[in-house]
Amino acid sequence: MTAPRIALACLVAGSAWLAGCADTGSDDEITVYSSRQEHLLQPLLDRYSEETGTPVRLVTDSAGALLQRLQAEGENTPADMLITVDAGNLWQAADLGLLRAIESPTLADNIPAHLRDPEGRWYGLSVRARTIVYATDRVDPSELSTYAALAGDEWRNRLCLRTSKKVYNQSLVAMMIVQRGEERTEEIVRGWVDNLAAPPFANDVAVMEAIRAGQCDVGIVNSYYFGRLQKEEPDIPLALHWANQDAEGRARGVHVNISGGGVVRHTGNAEGATALLAWLSAGEAQHLFAALNLEFPANPAVAPADQVAAWGEFTPNPINVAKAGELQTEAVKLMDRAGYR
Ligand code: FE
Repeated sequence: MTAPRIALACLVAGSAWLAGCADTGSDDEITVYSSRQEHLLQPLLDRYSEETGTPVRLVTDSAGALLQRLQAEGENTPADMLITVDAGNLWQAADLGLLRAIESPTLADNIPAHLRDPEGRWYGLSVRARTIVYATDRVDPSELSTYAALAGDEWRNRLCLRTSKKVYNQSLVAMMIVQRGEERTEEIVRGWVDNLAAPPFANDVAVMEAIRAGQCDVGIVNSYYFGRLQKEEPDIPLALHWANQDAEGRARGVHVNISGGGVVRHTGNAEGATALLAWLSAGEAQHLFAALNLEFPANPAVAPADQVAAWGEFTPNPINVAKAGELQTEAVKLMDRAGYR
């Protein structure tokens, strides 16, 4: 029914039809730029298209490449929505003026305030905890408490970390700056460096493999990487420890980060992109968005996958994840001063 009606409207509009109806076929199409892996997102977008009849085109690349592309394309961008991981990247996209503030009661209801931009330019859609992982045969969980405690002498030559070049660690250190101040955070990071059993690794999986191989006993990783290993090998002798559960004041709670999205500033379809973002924030879509990558749903009303739920509940740090972006440059400088490569 829709197509003939549009055609008729174009005829009736007379001379306006060239401008308004020339690309009728793609008028409601939504183009999503995403640094999230295709297999984590495509099934959801297919479902959205099935449910609503709205075609969605997915373009995937690294976060840095997509931000560059959006900048270069400017007003001519075909993109309507950006989806990426880590609040540091989303903050940067907003800071570069690539996203527009949107008002959506659905998104405001579904996504807790600390998991979205205070100005409404991006919204968390899933949550990952960056926390302590340990060898269950060499570490008693009672020995573990905070990120800061991993700087203690008892962990000398027992700690493995991923490179400080990764935004995940920049965000973690940025949050620690908010929690404990710059001076104390630098002391902690120096302590970590002193405790390293090996030079920093390229990724979180390599950290866990080193722990498993006995090269070190503890590390700091994103929860979903642990989940992937555990899925392949349920009896893997590693476990997650929820950090900072008994810490004081602002330092209390596990460092959480998000993957999420926002509507592109120069979109030609803000309404469509907002509707898709809102759809991703609720119900089965929200469950799947998290579950496909073994993350936690950002919407607290939606249950995580069983494997993720089995890790137990934790108190997340409630500081707005936007701070990870705001303090990223300071965090990078601090890690450099502390000799964390
Ligand atoms: Fe990752």
